[in-house]
Amino acid sequence: MSSILSEILEAAKTVRAIAQGMAVTLSYIPKQKLTRQYPDVPVELYPRFRGEHYLARDENGKERCVACFLCAAACPADAIYIEADEDLRPYEERPGVEPRYARVYNIDYGRCILCGYCVEACPKDAIKHGHNFEMAVTNFADLVKDKQYLLSNLEREKTRNLTIRSDA
Ligand code: SF4
Ligand code: SF4
Repeated sequence: MSSILSEILEAAKTVRAIAQGMAVTLSYIPKQKLTRQYPDVPVELYPRFRGEHYLARDENGKERCVACFLCAAACPADAIYIEADEDLRPYEERPGVEPRYARVYNIDYGRCILCGYCVEACPKDAIKHGHNFEMAVTNFADLVKDKQYLLSNLEREKTRNLTIRSDA
């Protein structure tokens, strides 16, 4: 008798839990939807949003990165691959602010968790988070972004339908 009673109580609890869950679901049906029809409608992002990175240049267009490897060392996901090189030509002729520069600079977005540690670690303000979140690809290898891609990412971001909020 007691086992029948406990089964009835258990069934009542289950029905109550389902009813509570459905009440929450149904209560959202008449509410205004938050779906944003991006990219037809611009999406608003906060300035500190951590999107795809970009490699920064100085005021003369020189690459700021000096291939010190601090970003790669700080990365908990081992997502950054750098090969350093030296270009001993004068400032006007070389690509970077310093003779030492990154000949190869890759970020693997299959590993990156957008934590921002690399940005924090960089002493030259050379690696920054942009606001691009369109990072989906159909080929896994395409998740590895190279230096040329990252150097042009700030310009690429301007082609996205994004607005950055000014109230934060
Ligand atoms: S954002 Fe984080 S995980 Fe991504 S490359 Fe930088 S340190 Fe690594
Ligand atoms: S991005 Fe910054 S931390 Fe990383 S190698 Fe270049 S200068 Fe060093």
